Amino acid sequence: MKRIFLDHQSSMPVDQRVFEFAVRYLKEDFGNPSSLHSAGLEAKKAIDEARRKIADFINAPGEKSVIFTGGATEANNLAIKGTAYRNVARGRRVASSSIEHMSVLNPLKELKKNGFEYDLVPVDSYGIVDLKKLEEVVTEETVVTSVLYANNEIGTIEPIREISGIVHGRGGYLHVDATAAAGRIPLDVQAEGIDLLTLSSNDLYGPRGAGALYVKPGLKLQPLLPGGGQERGLRSGTENIFAIAGMGEAARLAGLEMERESARLKKIRDALIKGILEVEETFLTGHPEKRLPHHASFRFTGIEGEGILLLLDRQGIQVSTGSACSSQTLEASHVLLAIGLKHEEVHGSMVLTLGRSTKAEDAPVVIGAVKETVTKLRELSPLWKKH
Ligand code: PMP
Repeated sequence: MKRIFLDHQSSMPVDQRVFEFAVRYLKEDFGNPSSLHSAGLEAKKAIDEARRKIADFINAPGEKSVIFTGGATEANNLAIKGTAYRNVARGRRVASSSIEHMSVLNPLKELKKNGFEYDLVPVDSYGIVDLKKLEEVVTEETVVTSVLYANNEIGTIEPIREISGIVHGRGGYLHVDATAAAGRIPLDVQAEGIDLLTLSSNDLYGPRGAGALYVKPGLKLQPLLPGGGQERGLRSGTENIFAIAGMGEAARLAGLEMERESARLKKIRDALIKGILEVEETFLTGHPEKRLPHHASFRFTGIEGEGILLLLDRQGIQVSTGSACSSQTLEASHVLLAIGLKHEEVHGSMVLTLGRSTKAEDAPVVIGAVKETVTKLRELSPLWKKH
């Protein structure tokens, strides 16, 4: 059976070029970058080069501003808790939008247990941060505010420049989780006024086990992993050179190919949206235009997203019902609730995220399979019959 993988937000293959570039750091150039001999220096060179590639990818004002971590979750934790703890003299408040990834929301909850208060800023029905509410909520006491560049579940792109203006107007720092946006739309930390920015290697077709946090020069953080003092003392632990070198190369390739690839995927994505919305009582979630070019998300009245996922999987098509993290708990998506959907509406969600393996001829196959699957599930659904 031919496989059509449309769940690139949860996992991506390592690009063959990235693998070939970085594989030597597993077996041949395995030195520890802290060692002073030539093997160590070779490893250090690989990290320095990766740091420069990441800095170029986000237009950072110098490669020293990039800290490598073990992934996006760790980068989000370091950004939020590290900034809050180190700058506590400014205040004991933190804030984020209500549709952040759990790796932002849970650190906020942890801060609350440690003497901080946090505010969640609501979003509109498309998932765009309510700027008026943001102005009300962020005060001079708010040390750091965290907003996704683009949401992973509904694809909506946030007005980062305006958000930055408001946050900076109160004297605080802005952290942006760009995990879902990176490689799909251009990122420029200087033009957008971003103080801290999270990236994930695997979301760029790089190996798992690496992430990066951009930290604006001059911004002080408290390390979360004290130890041997690697990464300017902000992230101790012997570096995962294979993943870091791979992440750098993945970012370089993504930067080169993004414009063409995003335009290609957008066309296929638009065909999918058009075809799938022909199914009655089907709605797009997220913003129709201000959305990531590879992202299409829907909700279907009267059926469960898990049912759609499992039946499509039997036909070789892998999709998602939302965030891979909330699928473990089977909890209703906080993102879909935050955009104003009712509990019964939230459960019929399906998210398609396209990638380099996606072909134009996949679109009619997927549309046909979705139409058939939804009809089949609705025939069995008491909810749909009641509806
Ligand atoms: N932020 C966003 C927006 C994500 O989609 C994810 C998951 N890919 C993460 C953070 C956490 O990434 P990881 O699980 O790789 O640490």
